[in-house]
Parts: sequence; structure tokens; C-alpha cells
Amino acid sequence: MSDHKKVVLSGMQPTGMLHLGNYEGALKNWVNLQNSGKYEMYFCIVDWHALTTAYKDPSDLVERIYQIAADYLAAGLDPEKVTIFVQSDVKQHAELHLLLSMITPIPWLERVPSYKEKVEALGLDSYGFLGYPLLQTADIIIYRAEGVPVGKDQLPHLELAREIVRRFNFLYGEVFPEPQAILSDAPYIPGTDRRKMSKSYDNHICMGDPPDVIRKRVMSYYTDETKIYRGDPGHPDRCPVFALLKIYAPDQTEKIKADCESGNPDWGCVKCKKLLAERLIETFKPFREKREQLLSDREQIKKILAEGAERARARAEETMRLVRKAMKMWDAQ
Ligand code: SF4
Repeated sequence: MSDHKKVVLSGMQPTGMLHLGNYEGALKNWVNLQNSGKYEMYFCIVDWHALTTAYKDPSDLVERIYQIAADYLAAGLDPEKVTIFVQSDVKQHAELHLLLSMITPIPWLERVPSYKEKVEALGLDSYGFLGYPLLQTADIIIYRAEGVPVGKDQLPHLELAREIVRRFNFLYGEVFPEPQAILSDAPYIPGTDRRKMSKSYDNHICMGDPPDVIRKRVMSYYTDETKIYRGDPGHPDRCPVFALLKIYAPDQTEKIKADCESGNPDWGCVKCKKLLAERLIETFKPFREKREQLLSDREQIKKILAEGAERARARAEETMRLVRKAMKMWDAQ
């Protein structure tokens, strides 16, 4: 029987502390995949990608890297089992990005849905922003990754990566496997304003937030807009607080649903929010303690990332040797 473990890569931008959407949508799944023992896994903190929006003032990028690394580790990623590293520590990503840019037609990049949306919403129009999905392709295929844990919204980016792989392999011979999506059935995590939880909407709750911040954020949630007074019947399935209670207080949801729908005057939105806040505080207490302890020793985090980068560089350089040779480059002689 083959002992080949599928290579898997994923990553996040260093946006500072991670929130519940990042955790339930990705990090938790990463830890499960790690613990399955079935994969050789690389987790990248993509600091170059962060520059597409943070280029004007990148001064807190280093701190944000420490914060996200602490979150990765506190959530259970184990540097003994997986490789955790910072993108800019592995320069081969940039070399592959450059070579791929020679074979990628511009319309392929322009048609990525998130490009059009963000150009309109944020007014981003830099070359780096257009090339974002191409750098992302380089991030994935430089490890010859066969699997990428992604959410459904990331599928067009992965499809582009697969298209570029096919083009490269057609032009120069088989070097890269086509990466496949590893989809998880992650729950939808609504933010305080009912939109998808995101730092850019400032509607998020971080696992590392202190208890009083968690309480304040939870109390600011919009609920079902038709439930104005406590005795009004509500619609839990339209309520973001209820969506979170299903995850963090599943033992209570049957009763809450009945009380909400019948307009029981003894149970209202404030009680739901208080319950949710206390459950979040309790659920993420070990996480908060671990991340505080990790952040009190930054040298240790730095060491973990440096060791990860060394392992990542070895694999990335092995790929680049294959790429340079396939393309018959000067530096492959
Ligand atoms: S009572 Fe609870 S479930 Fe019903 S609308 Fe209010 S917060 Fe949502």
C-alpha cells in the first residue's frame, strides 16, 4: 500500500486576531484535517497578499503576523505535525508568480468574480491586486498541493489555479498536479449586522477578545426585525443570534425556538444574547489562555515560523528546480 500522503495547502491573510467566521469556516476544519493524519499540510500566513490593501501603511503587519500565528497555534495547529510559515519567508513563491505571469492571459484574471466586486467596492486597481489570484496559484502549486480546503466562495480562485496548471503542463510537460477543493460543511457565521462575519464590515467577534468585549459585541447583534417586543412571536430561523446558539448552545435551542415562536413573554432577545455571550466566553476560555501565553513569548512564535519556513523552502525549491528545468531556464543548467 502506498504511504503517499496528499499534500494540502491553505492560508490566511494576517488581519490580526481571527474571528468566529475564520474559526468555524476554516481553522476548525484545518485542525480536523491535521488530526486525521491523512495529509502533509502547509499553512501559510500570506503577508504579501495583505499588501494589496495594506500597502499604504504596512507598519503593523509584523504584529498582525504574531497575532494570527498565535491564533493558529491556540486553535490546535501543531507545528510538529504541520508546517506553519510566513509567505515572505519563502521567496520561491515570488519567482513562481513571475514565471506564471508570463503564461497567464490578463482576461483570466479580470474575470475572477472577487476582482470586479472589489475594484468597484474598494477602488483597488493595482497590478498586485489584479495578480492576487495568480500569486495565490503560486502559493498552492509551489508545494505541488493536491488538495486545498476552501469555502464555496473561493472555488473560482481554485478553478483559475487549475486552469493555469493545465496551461503550464501543456506548454512545458507535467510538473504540477491539478489541486482539488476539499470542501467542508462549515456553518454560515453571521456578523452583528446580519451580513457574513468579516473584519471589513466591523461586525465580528474574535475568539481572543476579552469577555467584556464579547458581551458588548453580542449585545449589539440585530435579531429578527419582526420581534420588537418580548411578547411578539419571532422567527428564529431568520435570527443571527439563533444561528450562533445552534453552534454554541445546542442543548438550549429547542426550548428557545419554541419560546421565540410562541412569543413567550418570559424569554426575549436579551436573554438569548446573554446566553450566547456566556457560552462564547466559556467555549473559548482555553483558546484565550493559550494565545495569551503564546504571545507572552514571541521568540517562541518566531522560532516556530522560522522552522516552518525552512521546511516550506525545501519543498518549494524542489518544485522550482523542476519548473526551471521544464522551462529550460538559464538557472537550470
Ligand atoms: S428571542 Fe432569541 S431567537 Fe428569537 S429573535 Fe430574539 S434573539 Fe432571536
